[in-house]
Amino acid sequence: MPELRSVLVVEDNLQNLELVEFLLEEAGIAVASATDAAAALEALATTVPDVVLMDMQLPGTDGLTLVGQLRTSPRTATVPIIALTAHAMRGDRERFLAGGCDAYIAKPIDTNTFLDEVQRVLAAASQRTRRNDAER
Ligand code: MN
Repeated sequence: MPELRSVLVVEDNLQNLELVEFLLEEAGIAVASATDAAAALEALATTVPDVVLMDMQLPGTDGLTLVGQLRTSPRTATVPIIALTAHAMRGDRERFLAGGCDAYIAKPIDTNTFLDEVQRVLAAASQRTRRNDAER
């Protein structure tokens, strides 16, 4: 199982941001945060984390547009991205997955399952990368 060491959280709701930061930091994971797309791109220019957690409703450039930008940049093309979404509609979630997210976590965050969920996505993504490497 790949170790989850670092996460970038992109979230403009400070209450959600603080909760996610708390849950990750409590588990010894290094957390970087951004409250909009510009700050996220700035953070990613320095360090690409193990996982990106991304609110899809951001001020200015929205989450889906930002995910598209990350997927087309070689630096961030394969970083696992988990959408944080309050959308209840199934169509929206499918749109996020089709747009390049690996998975989504519904808000409000379930503090009991949150870390396992993030770890599971990282494990699945790293398995996929290994498989692609083997096929090459
Ligand atoms: Mn938001």
